[in-house]
Amino acid sequence: MNNNLNNINDKTKIKSNNNKKRKKIILVSLILLMLLIFLILFIFFINNNKETITNDNNQVENNKPLTELEKKLLELENINEKLDFFKEENIDRYIDYKNNNPNLDLEKVIVYVNIGLDQEFYSKSYPSPNQNTSKILTNKFYSLTEDYVPNDLETIDSNFSSGSKEMVKEAKDAFEKMAKDAKSEGYNIRAVSTYRSYEYQEKLYSNYVKADGVEKADTYSARAGSSEHQTGLAVDVDNITLSYTSFGKTKEYEWMQKNAYKYGFILRYTKEAEFITGYQEEPWHYRYVGTEISTYIQNNPMTYEEYFVRFLDK
Ligand SMILES: [Zn+2]
Repeated sequence: MNNNLNNINDKTKIKSNNNKKRKKIILVSLILLMLLIFLILFIFFINNNKETITNDNNQVENNKPLTELEKKLLELENINEKLDFFKEENIDRYIDYKNNNPNLDLEKVIVYVNIGLDQEFYSKSYPSPNQNTSKILTNKFYSLTEDYVPNDLETIDSNFSSGSKEMVKEAKDAFEKMAKDAKSEGYNIRAVSTYRSYEYQEKLYSNYVKADGVEKADTYSARAGSSEHQTGLAVDVDNITLSYTSFGKTKEYEWMQKNAYKYGFILRYTKEAEFITGYQEEPWHYRYVGTEISTYIQNNPMTYEEYFVRFLDK
């Protein structure tokens, strides 16, 4: 009996040992399986992460760093989605201009290249856009033909001009109203030069060239076809007592700074914008653009060139 019992006990022991062994094997297998799953997940994660970096950041593509050019192209592509004046065909010029002006932000790069500032003044000549409207652009890239004479030229009231001076009717009316309002407040605004024909500008410019040479003359006088005066929308003013070249020192100039925009006029050639317009500052030269544009520019100071490429050059 005792012997028998012992035998049963032994069998139970063996069984229990077998069970323990099996449990151990299952446990180890489970651990191994988990490790394997973990390893697979880890490899998957690493690969996925690599792809994200390649797609989003463009730092690594096939483990090769992007060239400066590729980085700039991508930057430009991103900006393209935000700026509707971005021009696909100018992309090489944007990149060159950015390379030459690394501190300039991309929005300005695009505006300046669209204006043409990556090229020499007068190196390209396109017909002035928006002819016979107050939105015309005439400068060292956009010019008028020899026979361009604006429609609706009218003579300014002689109370507000020196001699007989003509402007496009819309601009003339606005100028007279402005000069009249200024007068009622004790300020004299007088037109001393307004519409000038192509031929007249040709003579004027060639006289300046004779006196000062081409390089100097170009900083203060327009070549024929490139003068805003040919549009009939520009006016040089004085205050009657001083020469127009001293207008910037007068109280009338201060008045114009505050009020000209209300009548649709902008100061066209400022000191800060010499590199954009290609002209020395001219505190006496005003351009009629209409009150919508003049008000915008009064609130957001910029040249008419910048306004044009941002809003009108579509
Ligand atoms: Zn002028």
